[in-house]
Amino acid sequence: MPDIITYLKNHQKDMEETLLKLVEAESPSKNKALTDRCGEVLHGIFDELVGGSGEMIEKESVGNQYRFTYGNGDETEQLLIIGHYDTVWDQGALSIRREGDVLYGPGTFDMKGGLTITLWALHTLKALNVFGNRKVVFLVTSDEEIGSSHSRALIEEEAKRSSLVFVPESSISPNGAVKTSRKGIGIFKLKVYGKSVHAGINPWDGASAIDELALQIADIKKLDDREKGISINIGTISGGSRTNVVAAYAEADIDLRFLKREHAEATTEAVLNRPAFIEGTTVEIEGGINRYPMEETEAVLNLYSQLTEIAAGLDYPLAKGSSGGASDGNLTAGVGIPTIDGLGPIGDGAHADNEHVVLTDLPYRAALLAELIKRNLE
Ligand SMILES: [Zn+2]
Repeated sequence: MPDIITYLKNHQKDMEETLLKLVEAESPSKNKALTDRCGEVLHGIFDELVGGSGEMIEKESVGNQYRFTYGNGDETEQLLIIGHYDTVWDQGALSIRREGDVLYGPGTFDMKGGLTITLWALHTLKALNVFGNRKVVFLVTSDEEIGSSHSRALIEEEAKRSSLVFVPESSISPNGAVKTSRKGIGIFKLKVYGKSVHAGINPWDGASAIDELALQIADIKKLDDREKGISINIGTISGGSRTNVVAAYAEADIDLRFLKREHAEATTEAVLNRPAFIEGTTVEIEGGINRYPMEETEAVLNLYSQLTEIAAGLDYPLAKGSSGGASDGNLTAGVGIPTIDGLGPIGDGAHADNEHVVLTDLPYRAALLAELIKRNLE
């Protein structure tokens, strides 16, 4: 019987075909009819390559979602792989073309390449008769690119039944490093109400919402702490009506990022607790923590060291890194389950015109994932 990498290398052409089928079934997050079709393609490939149980979870306004399982282990100790099949691209926005060893097209890198390696990792384990005491659940959602509000509960519930979570999202470009941490996010809207008067006749009878907003922003920015990995971005501001009127209203949108869970609550509390500086104005702030960080814990470093051992055996260089962006891996880490991300193939251009994956990398990444699953099936 061949080993995992030999088996996958022998099937590289088939892996390329799987990827092409998924990419050709375009799946913009907000087009349910189209994404559903891509979901059917995915379901068909799973049945063909892995078989067993593929459960469809019907969704009303986004594409249907899928819970595929491999093996028969105990549910409380299952391994979980999460992915999404929606993309940020409208139909036809990006052409699909192959140049040498590279496939360009919508969702190639984010993350149909990752879905392809997962399907083939599971297929290979089955073909080589590798089963353990644990079940593997492959959960594929359809709204990651628009905030995961139609899948968040499902992902968190499934994660709570799992001992480890593997995320074959796009790797770090250009060398394909895996992601051992991701920042968490807080999202806020700051609204300031003032008292409008004529700027010339009686300016001191009013209370400027814009002046107050400026003071609030300066104060909030004091929470920014590069050393601790806490950053605050005032993404938009607006307010006022005309130059000769003291502003009655002003608002700002705020994005908070943090590397450590321990900083999430305290910083959020400080952002939310906003007494007004200027008499006559009122400050309202809404929002809070959107996603907890995916932290580089001991358990995550252990997964990474398993991966580097496997990679060394394949003569394949594998680095690790951190991402400032969030994924559904933040959700599984947020409920306390060790999560490693960025397991997808080498490529570049997530959400960009040059989105692509390197096809010769597919067997290696599928082998890394298959070996990692195999090691953790006991
Ligand atoms: Zn993605």
